[in-house]
Parts: sequence; C-alpha cells; structure tokens
Amino acid sequence: MHAQRSAMVADIRRQGVKDERVLKAMGMVRRHLFIPEKIRGRVDPYGDHPCPIGHGQTISQPFIVAYMTKRIEVDPGMRILEIGTGSGYQAAVLAELGADVYSIEIVPELADHARAALASEGYDSVKVKTGDGYKGWPEHAPFDAIIVTCAPAKIPDALKTQLKDGGRMILPVGTGIQQLVVLEKTAEGFREIPDLYVRFVPMVRGAD
Ligand code: SAH
Repeated sequence: MHAQRSAMVADIRRQGVKDERVLKAMGMVRRHLFIPEKIRGRVDPYGDHPCPIGHGQTISQPFIVAYMTKRIEVDPGMRILEIGTGSGYQAAVLAELGADVYSIEIVPELADHARAALASEGYDSVKVKTGDGYKGWPEHAPFDAIIVTCAPAKIPDALKTQLKDGGRMILPVGTGIQQLVVLEKTAEGFREIPDLYVRFVPMVRGAD
C-alpha cells in the first residue's frame, strides 16, 4: 500500500497542492483502513476519485482532502471542528498534522466505524460525536478552524459563532451546484472567499 500512497501523493502534487506538510501527512495516513472492511476489497482506496464508505456516503477524492486541508492552514496544537466524520479519514489527516480534532457525524454506524478506525490507527487527538453538525460543538468552541465535508444550502450560523477571531472555515455551499467557500472571521466581521466548484453529499437536517 505504501507504493500506492506515494503515487497518490505524487498525483495530488501534480494537481497543484504543493504544501509539503500536507503531502507528508497524506503519505502517512493509511487511507485503505478507513474504508469499512466489507467495501475495501471492491474499491481502489488510493485512486483519484471519491470512495464509497457505506450508507450512501463517500470519502472525498484525495486531491480535495489535500486542498481543503491546505486552505485552512493547519498548525500543530490547533483546535479544529469537522462536520461529517464519515470514515474518519479527513480527521486522521488533520491529526497527523498535529491538530486536536472534534468531529461530528450524524449517521451512528459511521461514527462508530470512524471511532474504531481512528483508535486502531492511534489517532487519540480526535474526538468523534454522534449528532447533528448544524449545532456545532459549543462545549469545545471557539475553534481555530472549521472544515465541513457535507454541503449545506447556506453557511450555518452556529458554526460562524463557534469560529475564533482570526479563524477560518472551509465548506461546500449550495444545492445542485456547490462551491467551496473560505470564510475568515476577523474583529471587523466575516470575509467570504469563493473557491473551487465541487460535489459533496448534502448536509442533512437532524431529527430535532
Ligand atoms: N470527511 C469524511 C467524508 C464525509 S462524507 C471522510 O473523511 O471520510 C459526508 C458525511 O457528512 C457523511 O458521513 C454524512 O453522514 C455526514 N453528514 C451529513 N449531514 C450531516 C450533519 N447534519 N451533521 C453531521 N454529519 C452530517
């Protein structure tokens, strides 16, 4: 798997993410182990495409994981909120970069799988909560950065509130056509920077 991971990293670099720390982290995380066992044999975990993880969900294409990670400029010790834990892979990449990660997943079975995969790979700095990401995780706010890996129709207000001054959020926004948005919070207010067009699963509404 090491050779496939190196090829994946070379591919990401060719597509334009050249940040050495991000590339190194993606070279370290064993992506195939985040794909649930019964699906693993049927997909190429290191291919340049999203990978199914069950429950109609996917891990993003490696390039998109690298790109979003680079855009939030992760430093060791940063406290990061992720919405949409899915397999746990993106959270593992953030942990590999030294971040403390708080990740929320709405599908209980996926949250359980991600917790198990993260624990067996030794990513103790990731906490996974089963719940609705629209509410964020106020007990651990404010966050230095927030990364959302499912697409809401508009930027959820609770997440804006839970971002630190000087912090940055990246998320896909829209129904149908979606666009990544980088949101910077400053003492003067928010600055929205539109970025790549993308395709993510929708951010669904919780029961309550
Ligand atoms: N980051 C993941 C991929 C996430 S796929 C990884 O690295 O594997 C998007 C995930 O968002 C799915 O698992 C989906 O169940 C979850 N999701 C959708 N709506 C949500 C919500 N309101 N709150 C939390 N998670 C949500």
